[in-house]
Amino acid sequence: MIFSRGVYIVLFSFIFFTTKAQQWSASFEQLGSKLPTPNTYRTGSGAPGEAYWQQKVDYKIKVSIDDEKQVLTGTETITYHNNSPDVLTYLWVQLDQNVRKEGNIKDVTNITGIAPKMSTKNIVQELGAYDYDGGFKIGEIETTAGENLDYFINRTMMRINLPTPLKPGENFEFKMSWSYNLYDRMIINGRGGYEYFPEDKNYAYTVAQWYPRLCVYDDYEGWQNKQFIGDGEFALEFGDFDVEITVPADHIVSATGELQNATQVLSAEQQKRWTLAKKTFDKPVIIASQEEAEAREKNKSSETKSWHFKAQNVRDFAFATSRKYIWEAQAVKLPPNTVMAMSVYPKEANPLWANEATKAVKNALEVYSSRTFDYPYPVAIAVNAANQGMEYPMICFNGSRPNKNGKYSQRHVSDLVDVVVHEVGHNYFPMIVNTDERMYGWMDEGLNTFLELETKRERYPTLDTIWGSPKSMTVYHIRFDQWLDAPMTNPDITNFSDYSDYGQASAAMNVLRNVIMGKELFDMAFKTYANLWKFKRPKPADFFRVMEDASATDLDWFWKGWFFKTTPVDVAIENVKWYRLRDDNFQPKQKYGILPKYFSLTETPDIFYWDFLSRVDDEKIKADFKGKNFYDITFKNVGGLVSPLVLQFTFDDNTTASETIPAEIWRYSESEVTKVFYFNKVLKSVQLDPFDKTGDINTRNNVFKLN
Ligand SMILES: [Zn+2]
Repeated sequence: MIFSRGVYIVLFSFIFFTTKAQQWSASFEQLGSKLPTPNTYRTGSGAPGEAYWQQKVDYKIKVSIDDEKQVLTGTETITYHNNSPDVLTYLWVQLDQNVRKEGNIKDVTNITGIAPKMSTKNIVQELGAYDYDGGFKIGEIETTAGENLDYFINRTMMRINLPTPLKPGENFEFKMSWSYNLYDRMIINGRGGYEYFPEDKNYAYTVAQWYPRLCVYDDYEGWQNKQFIGDGEFALEFGDFDVEITVPADHIVSATGELQNATQVLSAEQQKRWTLAKKTFDKPVIIASQEEAEAREKNKSSETKSWHFKAQNVRDFAFATSRKYIWEAQAVKLPPNTVMAMSVYPKEANPLWANEATKAVKNALEVYSSRTFDYPYPVAIAVNAANQGMEYPMICFNGSRPNKNGKYSQRHVSDLVDVVVHEVGHNYFPMIVNTDERMYGWMDEGLNTFLELETKRERYPTLDTIWGSPKSMTVYHIRFDQWLDAPMTNPDITNFSDYSDYGQASAAMNVLRNVIMGKELFDMAFKTYANLWKFKRPKPADFFRVMEDASATDLDWFWKGWFFKTTPVDVAIENVKWYRLRDDNFQPKQKYGILPKYFSLTETPDIFYWDFLSRVDDEKIKADFKGKNFYDITFKNVGGLVSPLVLQFTFDDNTTASETIPAEIWRYSESEVTKVFYFNKVLKSVQLDPFDKTGDINTRNNVFKLN
């Protein structure tokens, strides 16, 4: 299209007239090279490409727990399926327990200091001075034919050199044996381990990162090479698991997958209750009661039993075992599946858990499924474990217990709902939408915190629904601004922070849904992302691209501001000028603090018509604007992050009107803009972001009162 020169003059004068000093900090520049170039594995639309592939790893494991010495011993057969187009000459295996080996990188690089007063527990944790022999003790590593494999251990990873190169489409099967000392979570922070109950001298084991498991090999960076140093979580391949867990005969075992040998490990009565639970949709059915658990606590069995579980298409396997466990289950319809929602807990968690836990599992499954995809697994289990919140496929470990006398308050309920909904929610992100937690914590924690908040808004409206909202990020900017890291920073650097990995991305999803895109469009795009990438491995660019592609919304400016930077939203209403037409004969009331200025409407001079012979109707336009109140409002971007303007106007008859201006209003100038609004009524005040939807960290400059 070609413009005549006259149009340029008018356009320029328009821009000059309506903006102040040009400020350009590239907020609206496209992400461009910040995102990887699309290819046949990952497309420009954010969908998996036609050549997308991922490896598959199947595990057949036998594991036993020594309840006297708290030692875990296992053997496994791993089948590695090379679905990549590449020939592999070695495999990398994750040895996560080595993060607690003597001299490990986590403790050696921990920043420490002496405080005037330190608790004994504190100094031991600070200095890593545990009386604990940690780390994997590796036994045989051999082919299924019994030939030893050549390997090298680099801290938390082990390279296995393949006897012959593994070609695309080929499988490699090998065996390993190992053991390690389980650790006391009361003193050593970690995601698995045990809790000791001194009153009845029993243990509850929550077992995780417990078997040597394959590192990810993908199209993005080949073998995962970021060591486990404690904060950054896990990157894993999908596969099928067949696991036999040998424990004291009076233990209740809860695990990823479906129990295969109920007739061998459950009593006839328990099996009957399980059959009933599968048909009971309105409340949990107790499979193992508190009374029975208390009897088991006292009469400790010296026999053992093996519980056999199978799980298909999962990226990990975890389990919990104790003679203290109470177990309840309820069926939940999630068409086309019926899922068993379950809770497993010691008596110390009652009656809070009996009243709330399975309900929370069910609520999470229903709300998350409605926003993503139908939950595909047969079970979802919440296990109670002191001071914990950790997720695995189908099973999660959750803190929150009532007071010692069993009494509990709304705060206890809130804590339970927070942790159970969150950890069950992790089934969707990252257990099914399989993101790399070590590199991008926000992709599971942030999106999950967002859906946790949505679940609470839908199912628990009386509980606190602040965390994860835009408003909840204010305190980080006010108190810790210089220490914040952008969500795109990896979790070992952010220290897995509430801001970077959890809150900021959740707040961003809220702003997108409630201000920028609207609920319908956002939900459609978010669902598209979840469905495109379920059982696959998306990267940040894939998420960013799908959200734009599925909604016809260019959000590059938004991702840059909310995910690549820590600049906050703080928009101020700098000034409001009131105008009326000069020939209005308007009589301002005495009470008005600010009086109108006057301006005139002239007839359009011929020069502005260029070649057009037709003319606008000057008199009609003048008549249309007669009697109107014009407000020339100046907005200042104090915080730096460009933001939509959510405005509420209050008139002198106390009626209100709202308007949302997209963030693109800042595209000419990112520091200050003016815009004219006009009304029949006289404006009393104007307020920015009255319902805390945009994340504006300073609301003191959000209101401008005219009278
Ligand atoms: Zn989480």
